[in-house]
Amino acid sequence: MAKPASSAVPAGRDARLPRWLGRRPGREARRFDSVVIRGAGIGALICAARLARSDAFAGRVRIAAPRPRPGRRLVNGCTLRARTLDYAGAALGVPAETVADDLFGAERHKASTWAQDFALAPPHPGALDLRGPTPWMEAEPGRPLAYGLRNGHLVDRLARAVDLEVPFADTLAPSLEACLDQAPGDRPMVLDASHEPLSDVPAPAKPERFVVASQVPLRRRDGAALAAGHSCIGMRHRDGWFDTGVFYPFHDPLTPAADFYGIFYRIVRAGAPGFDKAREIAAMREIDEAFADALGLDPVDAEATRGEAMVPCIPWSDVTTHRADYMDLFRTYSACTPIITGDGMTRGALAGWLCAEALLAGEDPVSATNRSLRRWRSANRNFARGMTGLSRPLGAALRRAPRLVLRPVAAQPHMWARVA
Ligand SMILES: Cc1cc2nc3c(=O)[nH]c(=O)nc-3n(C[C@H](O)[C@H](O)[C@H](O)COP(=O)(O)OP(=O)(O)OC[C@H]3O[C@@H](n4cnc5c(N)ncnc54)[C@H](O)[C@@H]3O)c2cc1C
Repeated sequence: MAKPASSAVPAGRDARLPRWLGRRPGREARRFDSVVIRGAGIGALICAARLARSDAFAGRVRIAAPRPRPGRRLVNGCTLRARTLDYAGAALGVPAETVADDLFGAERHKASTWAQDFALAPPHPGALDLRGPTPWMEAEPGRPLAYGLRNGHLVDRLARAVDLEVPFADTLAPSLEACLDQAPGDRPMVLDASHEPLSDVPAPAKPERFVVASQVPLRRRDGAALAAGHSCIGMRHRDGWFDTGVFYPFHDPLTPAADFYGIFYRIVRAGAPGFDKAREIAAMREIDEAFADALGLDPVDAEATRGEAMVPCIPWSDVTTHRADYMDLFRTYSACTPIITGDGMTRGALAGWLCAEALLAGEDPVSATNRSLRRWRSANRNFARGMTGLSRPLGAALRRAPRLVLRPVAAQPHMWARVA
């Protein structure tokens, strides 16, 4: 990626950004002289990138985790809302266009979504008879809604961007103390950007709900149901709650035969009587591939590329900290029901960048990042309710007028497309 020119601040229509952004207080306002970031995902690397190119922290940032070595399997999110590039660009000090070029080169059109359709499936799989797909959201001219990529591809490009300036550790630091030991200064801040627990920090309450998911790269058959540049959200009402899936145009240099990817997911209560993780994941795999088939899409090298997960839900409320030199950055940007709104990368990028800006400005990163994410958490909460407790009335309304029901989402283009 090209070397940074400036530290542009993206317009924050999707986030509540603090007033102090862009104003730089004097050096004496800074409480910390170094930063240790535990984790090497999107939130961690975007934060590291911004700090590493600042005068205050250059040479004083450490990543207390190994350098990521991604493979072909679809681990973590693949729908990259285009808005994410604004925050990644701000952190890296390059235009968002440069980030997109670095990720996709001349193949960007293959990864781009310009409109989204909706389709409803009957409760039982088999030969799926879909109601739809019907278009419900269109991009503004010149601004795609989202890109489909393998999460590890973005992580790898971010790791390359910080590689020369920020050392990675050989292993993930097991404790806060181990993070502090790696600090290249006397007054370090520790940012935990990993979902693995720290042995010497109070454990959060045990989660009751989880999301199960199965995703796979796909290839269009001749005569596939979706128009070029369209993605699709699909829903199936089953046992009182919704299974939900999305299918996006996709480009991955490691699986060049794929031109789509598809995921299906469901919120589950892991403690419920008769709960069986393997059976729930298998149900997601089955509906994902049956729905793909109904759209005219075939899995590509599924045994090597399919990703499956069961990840915990985190409360939607603000995340606090028990000490001023430590912040749980991962729980802050993840606070919600994971996967379901396809925005974890955007929230990670926003919070990673803003956390770095707060440290540079001598401001409190905990309140700044929590406040900035409220709109995202509220959208996530509404969607989670639609998939569970409100699924019956929602299902009835979606059968009658999907475009009308989905209009509130379509009315928020700034939470999808780039605005800067
Ligand atoms: C199957 C799946 C599909 C997703 N789809 C999308 C998407 O389409 N678009 C999007 O923007 N985001 C999506 N996300 C979320 C997104 O991947 C992350 O929010 C994003 O990568 C930022 O996390 P990170 O890279 O900073 O942290 P990392 O630590 O690298 O990644 C964190 C991811 O691991 C998951 N995880 C795995 N095991 C655990 C565990 N035991 N406890 C807590 N978390 C765990 C988290 O849910 C999170 O998604 C998805 C996540 C998963 C697991």
